[in-house]
Amino acid sequence: MIVTFLGTAAADAFPAAFCRCRNCQQARTLGGFSLRKRSSLLVNDDLIIDLGPDIVAASQIHGCSLTNVRYCLQTHPHADHLDLSHLLARGPDYGTVGARLLSFYASTQTLQRASETFRTDLAGYDLLSAYAETRLNLKIHQAKPLEPLAFGNYRVIGFPANHAPEMGALLYSVESGGHAIFYGTDTASLSGQTWQTLHQQQMQFDLVILDHTYGPHQSESDHLSATQIIEHVQRMRREGLLKPDGRAYATHISHEGNPAHPELAAFAQQNGYQVAYDGLVLDI
Ligand SMILES: [Zn+2]
Ligand SMILES: [Zn+2]
Ligand SMILES: [Zn+2]
Repeated sequence: MIVTFLGTAAADAFPAAFCRCRNCQQARTLGGFSLRKRSSLLVNDDLIIDLGPDIVAASQIHGCSLTNVRYCLQTHPHADHLDLSHLLARGPDYGTVGARLLSFYASTQTLQRASETFRTDLAGYDLLSAYAETRLNLKIHQAKPLEPLAFGNYRVIGFPANHAPEMGALLYSVESGGHAIFYGTDTASLSGQTWQTLHQQQMQFDLVILDHTYGPHQSESDHLSATQIIEHVQRMRREGLLKPDGRAYATHISHEGNPAHPELAAFAQQNGYQVAYDGLVLDI
């Protein structure tokens, strides 16, 4: 699998629009890897995790077309992960007529939220209707937690996130061609049930990507912090969930407690993981 990080920031983006904190000022000065768009991940050229608000900008800046995307795994409906207006560009007025069907997977609760937002704020019709599926060349699927899904060359499992429980937030494992990745944002520390299921499913990841909303001197809330990432990565390696040569990357990085990229990357390197940046491409 080829994995492209379309964005690696938490909800505010980094630097945040009007913020003059030390971290945002440092990121503006340094530019480059320190400039982060809202989190989203492209797998090969046909699977996207989260239709985030910055995916079009990411596609333009990093030169990765989204026109071949056939599958979307949606973690949850928070605005930094889901901008439903992208779906309007699949309507009959756009150059998508005759294009491949987009299969959109999300939890029941996420679909309900998306349906409300889509009808009231965007389109005036129901996203979950046959009309929407035909008009937008779209197929909506419910992703049930812990139930494997198979489509194309992929096998996927959604794991309950420790985040926005009323929205049915999911983390995803994606397997293809004998390799596996885990996309673990947004979440606080993984639940006992998720750890147990990772073992029951005999997951052995080549790449683990985790929520790094909070930095080295902060504690977790409904997101992970650096300290929890270090513990999670160590445990995954110890318990064989992360292969001996497997890689661990941080994403969903907030300006609140994380320094600009070079300083954060150096901290991570010393602590057994790495920090993703926008446009990073990994061959798994
Ligand atoms: Zn988020
Ligand atoms: Zn800031
Ligand atoms: Zn969230």
